[in-house]
Amino acid sequence: MNKKGTLAILIGPSGSGKGTLIKQLLQDENETFLSVSATTRAPRPGEVDKVNYYFVSKDEFEQMIAEDALLEHACYCENYYGTPKAPVFERLERGEHVLLEIEMQGARQVKKAYPDAVSIFIMPPSIEELRRRLTGRGTETAEVIEKRMAAAVGEIEYAKECDCVVVNDDVIRAANEIAEILNRYTKQ
Ligand code: 5GP
Repeated sequence: MNKKGTLAILIGPSGSGKGTLIKQLLQDENETFLSVSATTRAPRPGEVDKVNYYFVSKDEFEQMIAEDALLEHACYCENYYGTPKAPVFERLERGEHVLLEIEMQGARQVKKAYPDAVSIFIMPPSIEELRRRLTGRGTETAEVIEKRMAAAVGEIEYAKECDCVVVNDDVIRAANEIAEILNRYTKQ
C-alpha cells in the first residue's frame, strides 16, 4: 500500500503568529499543501478568489453542503466557512500532507469524522507576547485588542483537546517542529 499523507488541523488564537508559521512551513516543505476553504464572506482588499478562498454565494455554499462536498463547515461571524473535501483526499492519497487552517467548531468535526487527523495548537509564547503582537499590528483599537485578548484566553483552553501543542517562540524552530509532527503521523 502507498504511503498516505497526514491531515493536520492548525488552530491558534489571533496573534499566535499562525499565518507566518504556515508560510514558513509551505516554503520549507514541498509536499505540504494548505487547503483552500470556501466562504460566503466578501473578499478583503488583496484577496484573490481560488487562492485565498473560494468566494461563493450563500446558495452555492448550501449546494455544496447538500452535495456532501465539504469535509466540515461552520458559521463564524455570520458567514459560512468550509473545507472542500475532494482536493484534501486527492492530496493525502498522493502522499502529501494537508493543512487545514480552521476554527474550533470545524476542528472538532474533522477530529470526530477522521480520528487519524492530527490537531496542532499554535500557542503564543506568553500572554504578554500575544498582547504585544496584537498591539504591534497597529490596526486595532484598544477595545478590539481587549476583545481579542479575551477571546484568545478562551481559545487557549482548547489546547487541552489538541493532540500537539507547538509554542511559536521562533518561527523557524516552530515550523520544523510541525514538519516533524507531520512526518511522525504519516500512515504506512
Ligand atoms: P477570516 O474571515 O479572518 O479569513 O477567517 C475567520 C475564521 O474562519 C478563522 O478562524 C479561520 O481559521 C476560520 N476558517 C477559515 N476557513 C475555514 C473553514 O474552511 N472551516 C472552518 N470551520 N473555519 C475556517
